[in-house]
Amino acid sequence: MNIKNKKCCICISGEPGVGKSSIVQQFVNKEFSTQYTPTLEDSYFYKLDLDEEIYNLDILDTAGQEEFCDLKNNYILNGNAFIIVYSISCKGSFKEVKNIRDNIINLKNTEDVPIIIVGNKIDIEEKERKVSKLEGINLAKQLNCIFIETSAKQNLNILEIFTSLVKDWNKKLSTWKK
Ligand code: GDP
Ligand code: MG
Repeated sequence: MNIKNKKCCICISGEPGVGKSSIVQQFVNKEFSTQYTPTLEDSYFYKLDLDEEIYNLDILDTAGQEEFCDLKNNYILNGNAFIIVYSISCKGSFKEVKNIRDNIINLKNTEDVPIIIVGNKIDIEEKERKVSKLEGINLAKQLNCIFIETSAKQNLNILEIFTSLVKDWNKKLSTWKK
């Protein structure tokens, strides 16, 4: 396999309103808006330069309300790596993370899937935080995922979501090949 120009399909999921589209827009277009219209599906292409390799990222931003519909399942089957977002200001969105992760590993039929759990909206933590950073870290440990807290609004740790996830995917790729 050509180690240059690896292609990685990344799916981003999480409850509506947690900031999925904002994260993708901040990453791809370096912009933040207080309004992103929910569309059924948007796909973005991004060339990530990391550790002297170019990764062609295909990022799928979904907006379906139903987490387990067939369309979503198809995205998951085609995805190589996954971002699951919750808002640190919304306990419900945090509770949903495990369900989304379980659905991914059930469909993939393996626990060995690159997944990053993202606690978004840390810019409003002073007034609005409902999920502590430790809760996030512990959940990620329990589910064998990587973890990061971010702000799409302030562009905090947004690039790091993608670099950490791609590194994890790359690491897993090399063990699968053995
Ligand atoms: P999605 O439904 O998960 O795609 O969420 P959106 O990206 O559409 O964001 C939902 C709302 O949360 C919008 O009003 C965004 O402006 C807002 N939002 C997204 N990310 C952040 C963030 O990091 N900080 C703050 N304060 N608001 C955010
Ligand atoms: Mg959206």
